[in-house]
Amino acid sequence: MSDLLENFKLPLVNAHCHAAMIAFKGLAEDKPLKEWLEKYIWPLERKMVNKEMVKTETKKAIKEMKRNKIAFFADMYFFEDQVAEAAIEENMPVLIGEVLLDFPTPSYKNFNEGLLITEKLLDKYKNHCLIKTSVAPHSIYTVSSEHLVEAKKLAKKYNVIYHIHCSETKQEFDDCLKKYNKTPVQYLEKLGVLDEKTLLAHCVWLDDKDIKILSKRKVKVAHCPLSNSKLGSGIAPIVKLLKNNVLVCLGTDGAGSSNRLDIWEAGKYAALSQKAINLDPTVLPIKEVIKMLTINGMKALGLEILNGKNIKQWEKELQKNNYSFLYSSNFS
Ligand SMILES: [Zn+2]
Repeated sequence: MSDLLENFKLPLVNAHCHAAMIAFKGLAEDKPLKEWLEKYIWPLERKMVNKEMVKTETKKAIKEMKRNKIAFFADMYFFEDQVAEAAIEENMPVLIGEVLLDFPTPSYKNFNEGLLITEKLLDKYKNHCLIKTSVAPHSIYTVSSEHLVEAKKLAKKYNVIYHIHCSETKQEFDDCLKKYNKTPVQYLEKLGVLDEKTLLAHCVWLDDKDIKILSKRKVKVAHCPLSNSKLGSGIAPIVKLLKNNVLVCLGTDGAGSSNRLDIWEAGKYAALSQKAINLDPTVLPIKEVIKMLTINGMKALGLEILNGKNIKQWEKELQKNNYSFLYSSNFS
């Protein structure tokens, strides 16, 4: 392990995760997202997911994240009250969000029940020292437009993050174009749910107009390159997003789709994959990746202080150091 990383206690943020999915690590390999979800993950979740499972598996995931020096993570899953309890017992700060879907799930019968659970969590953890809350509709293909708007109203009422998967696959992008004559980003823009408190996970498939919208609305993007590559979804246009001043942070996604909860690995892969697809080794330099791993995550998730310093102090600290060990470190 790098001494530098240990000494500075970098505020590594995992901005998109489904911690309890560590239970599904390695259970459905080499499948595209649609098949992976519909044939494997959703049936397994219907059978296996309950309160006890979420708490036990989240604790395992937190232990793995701590081993990998992650200081904070954003979670989206079922029984998020159990995620909060697991995090409190493990002394790990987290942003929780009960994932909202339009069909019955292990933790509620319909969307409205899911929204009620969310509001209870928003009330219960207001001003909690470890637990932050969000409103987390799953995606545009699992939640209706009315419900996406309703979820945003709730997020605005409590002034919290609106966390949603967006434009993860070409199929999602193409289906949205066909159905609404809009890209997923333009569809969300039309619904009025994009603003500085919106966190979009993935954003692999974007056109130039989408990028302008994300920039204009100050939307935050959680880039999950390992999950996107494993599921054959593609590689997000991170260089273009950064050129257009879109704030990009990094996520591991669930361990089911990236196998490890190692944000450092995601940062390294983010840099290398952008260099490869842009045929340019100068893009996404180490300092930029370190920002994505740390203060960008803090900004995206609304964290003032992490690992004892605020964003400004971390900005200064990061300026001073050379993080070239990004490409050579590992934690094992
Ligand atoms: Zn995800």
